[in-house]
Amino acid sequence: MNPITRFAPSPTGDLHLGHVYAAKVAHDLARDGGGSFLLRQEDIDTGRVKPEFYRHIEEDLEWLGLRWDGEILLQSERRKAYDDTLEALKNMGLIYPCFCTRKDIQAALSAPHGSHAEIYSGTCRALSTQETSERIAVGEAHSWRFHAAKAAEIHGELSFHDLRFGKIRVDTSVNGDAVLARKDIGIAYHLAVVVDDHFQNITHVTRGEDLLGATHIHRQLQSILGFREPHYLHHTLVRDEYGTRLAKRDHAHSVRTLREQGCSPDEVLTMVKTS
Ligand code: GLU
Repeated sequence: MNPITRFAPSPTGDLHLGHVYAAKVAHDLARDGGGSFLLRQEDIDTGRVKPEFYRHIEEDLEWLGLRWDGEILLQSERRKAYDDTLEALKNMGLIYPCFCTRKDIQAALSAPHGSHAEIYSGTCRALSTQETSERIAVGEAHSWRFHAAKAAEIHGELSFHDLRFGKIRVDTSVNGDAVLARKDIGIAYHLAVVVDDHFQNITHVTRGEDLLGATHIHRQLQSILGFREPHYLHHTLVRDEYGTRLAKRDHAHSVRTLREQGCSPDEVLTMVKTS
């Protein structure tokens, strides 16, 4: 099977060395196996997306020689596919509306700080169908959350295979009932990425190890939706000289800055090779 990989940046900033590494991992895996390397612009967060970054991302990749195959997929043009999937999950009773504000969620957290600080306590899971219908009917703002435990009853034991970490058992407590449709934009990363990886026939999902936890919910969704299971590779993150992971606001490590300072594409690619 020839691998199909993708690089999926958000056009909310310029590419930095961390992105270069992510793009290179996906590119090389595809090219070494005689497969395809695809580009997807993850532009669902319309409040943060800026038009110039689409072009910057494409120009920087071309400059680096990391040429993608075929058309670029824009998540902003995939709304119908996401809505249809949300509808299917709704019909299966696997998502529920959540009216909690950020403040409610924070107040209900058992541990205010720490790794599980973001796990939702499940307040709205217990609401009756009548109450949720009434609140939706009067236009109360809500997100849609995944009923992770209920989904697990349907799919049973699940695991995923990571080329670096091996077999990992899916644990529904890693993400809790994650948001699949945000209050503000009506869609969320976890759902969009699963729908699009399936749509683009991605065989190997490569991304930073910071997203290893997210894969637990992605496998659940793939199983429930009858999607193929891709291989995973959660790679290391590029860090600065102090060991901090790079951020978009940190211009010192952006491809544009390095290019303006006279670096060649090979020099930039070498910087991520050794990190
Ligand atoms: N847009 C995501 C990011 O930039 C992609 C994550 C993924 O590869 O699933 O982190």
